[in-house]
Amino acid sequence: MERQECSGSSSQGPPQGRSGTPPRGIKQLPRFDAGVMETYLDDMRDMKAKVYQMFREHPELLPNVEEGLSKEEHRELVRRSLKVILQNGYSPLDFLARDPRKYFYLGECLSMVDLSLMVKSGVQYSLWGGSVLNLGSEQHRRRYYDDIAQLRLPGCFAMTELKHGSNVAALQTEAVLDVLTDEWVVHTPDEGAIKWWIGNAAEDGRAATVFARLKVPDPNGGPKLVDHGVHAFVVPIRDANGSTLPGVEIRDCGYKVGLNGIDNGAIRFSHVRVPRTNLLDRFASVDKSGRYSSPLTSQARRFAATLGELTGGRVGLVAGSVGVLKGAITIAVRYACLRQQFGPPDCPEVAIIDYQSTQLRLMPILATAYGLHFARGLLTDKYVDMKRTREPRLVEEVHALSAGLKAYTTSYTQAALSTCREACGGHGYAAVNRLGALRSDHDIFQTFEGDNTVLLQQVSAMLLKEYRQQFSGAPLTATYHYLRAALLGALPNNPLVTHDTEPRHLRDPAFLAKALEYRTARMLFTLSLRLRKAGPRLGAFHAWNKCLEHVLDLANAYVESVVYKTFLRAVEGCVDPECRRALKAMSDLFALRLIEGDMMFR
Ligand SMILES: Cc1cc2nc3c(=O)[nH]c(=O)nc-3n(C[C@H](O)[C@H](O)[C@H](O)COP(=O)(O)OP(=O)(O)OC[C@H]3O[C@@H](n4cnc5c(N)ncnc54)[C@H](O)[C@@H]3O)c2cc1C
Repeated sequence: MERQECSGSSSQGPPQGRSGTPPRGIKQLPRFDAGVMETYLDDMRDMKAKVYQMFREHPELLPNVEEGLSKEEHRELVRRSLKVILQNGYSPLDFLARDPRKYFYLGECLSMVDLSLMVKSGVQYSLWGGSVLNLGSEQHRRRYYDDIAQLRLPGCFAMTELKHGSNVAALQTEAVLDVLTDEWVVHTPDEGAIKWWIGNAAEDGRAATVFARLKVPDPNGGPKLVDHGVHAFVVPIRDANGSTLPGVEIRDCGYKVGLNGIDNGAIRFSHVRVPRTNLLDRFASVDKSGRYSSPLTSQARRFAATLGELTGGRVGLVAGSVGVLKGAITIAVRYACLRQQFGPPDCPEVAIIDYQSTQLRLMPILATAYGLHFARGLLTDKYVDMKRTREPRLVEEVHALSAGLKAYTTSYTQAALSTCREACGGHGYAAVNRLGALRSDHDIFQTFEGDNTVLLQQVSAMLLKEYRQQFSGAPLTATYHYLRAALLGALPNNPLVTHDTEPRHLRDPAFLAKALEYRTARMLFTLSLRLRKAGPRLGAFHAWNKCLEHVLDLANAYVESVVYKTFLRAVEGCVDPECRRALKAMSDLFALRLIEGDMMFR
């Protein structure tokens, strides 16, 4: 019998044979200077170091994950942390308004401090502050900006109702104009319309952006009110002492599976009166006589424009989720390098990272974390461009990209958290190692700011629209450009049919990019055919439902293709040869794992 060598990572260094060369069967891993890599990956890391230092100086602000906190204690901790962040010169609302890259980066930093803190900050500045900034006009910004920025006016984003979460166009809360007093009367018509899950509502919020159906008297004198659909209104809910205002009833949503540092609440309005000017009137206004006007011609377009202004929340969740993914995979890989179990006879035990199964579990997650890091950068840059130029096609593109990446990233991270926990064995289950708390806190990222299943459908709907526009000669937005060649006339050949299994071919970026593009184009083409066939028989709604899995697969395939392309650009842009080689290995793994995992490629 052949004598077994003692090889593998039983010590902390990289695996080495007795002569200093890698032992038989163990490939030399790409080596690189971690500092150079860090500089390339993260041009804002000084800010991260300062934020983490700030919390090191305030250890009392870190949640005690081992012993747990009551929701009251956790909420108090989060409240204090928000103040400390401001006192240290970080103003999230200023970042959001003037330098959104910093805003999203701060969110990513906070995600590894405490996800409740990151989300509570998002509710105050991005949801409450962002809705006032983006849906209101200059008078609203002048009136509220400083108070929101300085936390003097904690607020809420009150969209979801008990009966309607994803289908926000069907919300039932109403705001009826009283022409005599020049006021809106905000009212919850029935229990199903109670605002539910509203962050900051149970304890802290003093005002809310309330989404309600705008109703005005019929200009032709008819007896019925005219319903112009869902609009946003600023509604005060508590006075300066924290007591609820007349007509406002608030209940605490209680303990949740995670994120217990946030005070989610339910709000019922009983004929609450606010001035007419409290309508956030960027896309529609109502004059004293009750005349409604809007530059956008249809209710659907106004609603789409309103929701389009709220993409910042999704960009923030992508940043936070990528932060969690990086944290989780770092914990799991470090542990796997140190933990030793079993080994050849008469040899030290080997590190669990040396098991093929551990590598297959963790390395694709590491590769995806890099890919999503770069994709997050792309999304942030496009968001910044969109805010600067307000170019309509960029608005559409950011909407699709933020929806797709939010859904993909948060679902991926949630699954990865479980894999990382398992890869760490029993110690992964100890509260102090954080994977459990991250899993509970992060879970809801898949649902709020747009349920992932619903968002993916929006991505596919946009791809289908682009597909149809291609045939009508309309221009494509930048991220869809690669589909053009694929869609003009015929599909490209499946690049996998060559059955070439040489590493040189399999690790060729041109081949990998083409394979992922082919999959997206093929799915788009076949989905379009299926819908066209089923539509006349079933009607559009049921035809869509019949193809729903196909719809979701298409959106995920599209996102993966965009992530890979972005990853490749990042590899090409890296000037340090060793770092580039390491990143290239990660990008190969990202794409090859996708090909291996999808039947479409077989
Ligand atoms: C902790 C927490 C904080 C929140 N904070 C806020 C807040 O501050 N402000 C606010 O307004 N809201 C908030 N929400 C509400 C959140 O945005 C909603 O829960 C979310 O939009 C989903 O709505 P829903 O819960 O009604 O689920 P539903 O829309 O009822 O969805 C239930 C299930 O049905 C599926 N489904 C729904 N429609 C479709 C479809 N067309 N096709 C296929 N499947 C479908 C979904 O995928 C999901 O699995 C919060 C929620 C939680 C839990």
